[in-house]
Amino acid sequence: MNKKSKRGNSLVWLLCILLFLLLAGGAYYLISSHLPALSNHIEEAAQSVSSKNDDDQQALLFSCKHPSFENGACTVCGWKCEEHEFNNGACMICGTPCPHEFHDGVCSICGFKCPHESWEDGACAVCGTPCSHPGHDQETALCVVCGQKQYHHYDRGVCTDCGGTPVFYTDPLPLSFYEPVEHKGTITKHEYTTTLWGAHDRSEIDKAFNVYLPYGYDESQPYDVLILIHGGGGSEDSWLVDLVPYGETEVTGGSLLDYMFEQKVCKPCIVVTPVTNTRFLTGVEGGIYQMREELRDYILPYIVEHYSTYASDSSLDAISAAREHFGLGGLSNGALCVFEAGFQYNFTLFGSYAAFSGDYEPWNTASAIRNGEFAELPITCFFAGAGSIDDFQQQNSKIGFDYIVENTDRLVEGENAFYVDVAGGHDWTVWFTDLYNAMQVMFPD
Ligand SMILES: [Zn+2]
Ligand SMILES: [Zn+2]
Ligand SMILES: [Zn+2]
Ligand SMILES: [Zn+2]
Ligand SMILES: [Zn+2]
Ligand SMILES: [Zn+2]
Repeated sequence: MNKKSKRGNSLVWLLCILLFLLLAGGAYYLISSHLPALSNHIEEAAQSVSSKNDDDQQALLFSCKHPSFENGACTVCGWKCEEHEFNNGACMICGTPCPHEFHDGVCSICGFKCPHESWEDGACAVCGTPCSHPGHDQETALCVVCGQKQYHHYDRGVCTDCGGTPVFYTDPLPLSFYEPVEHKGTITKHEYTTTLWGAHDRSEIDKAFNVYLPYGYDESQPYDVLILIHGGGGSEDSWLVDLVPYGETEVTGGSLLDYMFEQKVCKPCIVVTPVTNTRFLTGVEGGIYQMREELRDYILPYIVEHYSTYASDSSLDAISAAREHFGLGGLSNGALCVFEAGFQYNFTLFGSYAAFSGDYEPWNTASAIRNGEFAELPITCFFAGAGSIDDFQQQNSKIGFDYIVENTDRLVEGENAFYVDVAGGHDWTVWFTDLYNAMQVMFPD
């Protein structure tokens, strides 16, 4: 091969390499610039498949008659009922039950009127409307509509709801009545300073009374007020707080009140227990006579001012206007206080009286309520009783009661005057049973 042809070959090779490079570059350009378009094309193809499914779905939605729903969604096509049209308890489209917002037994969303078919704790289990308790069974006192236990409303000895008459215990209350109940009332002690009525120098003396508020006490409701006076040697704690002997054991009166209100023995009321500081025990003048002023000038106005009662304000006129809702009770020396500081001196402020195992001063009482400004005032209730073997007071109690009933024209036994002896002596088994008996009839509704 000559030198010239060698050069010619090299040129051909060079041209071949250049051509190859040119072609390779062009191919790279072509591929790289068209790849995105290719991937787009793949996506478009995929999309056209899925939009075909949507169309099917749409077609199903339109053709589906939504034959059944579960949780507001059609079980066939999956369509969800978002805007329920509630009518009479359920959505007319999907059947979802109405969430019900009741006002006076009618749902404000769907218009459903609750028929009150089941009751729970005195209210409709569905709509919460309280039962009006239109009547109750004479023996069980269960409401004829809702079945809840009611208390009898004794008015002149007959229940205005069932026509029944009160059942009084003549044996001491069973011990179970003093066992702790679920719903307890509260007892608050109020301390104060007063001047001694009987002392010549009107010296100051520190005193106190307890206030029992029933469980569920509600400021928006008016309550009857029962003031209970202890016996000789007692204090403001005797009736409610102290553990006192009860047969073989000891109990408190506070637990009895809890039981009575929970069992609906009577309407819940406020019970106030002052201390009288009896002269013959403390050596201090005043005692039950002190209570004439103290009940009128301090205790009653204080209670009306601080608690929800039937009196429109704490003035004596307002208390007087609501006197059928104020009662005074007491045992032994406290019973004397009921006559002395109640009947005889504050007859305008109390409509109801309860005297247990006490001396009565019956002639003073009878003449006081027969005469003067008292002559027109009605007596809501006068309850008395004693222990059947109470040598100390049984005879006095019965004779006094009979004398007062006979010597006034406003007391009729069995209507607004009740006398019940309880088997026992001069002790708490009798007094707590007296209290239970008396509280059934002291405040007519
Ligand atoms: Zn459907
Ligand atoms: Zn619906
Ligand atoms: Zn509704
Ligand atoms: Zn209802
Ligand atoms: Zn009822
Ligand atoms: Zn009744």
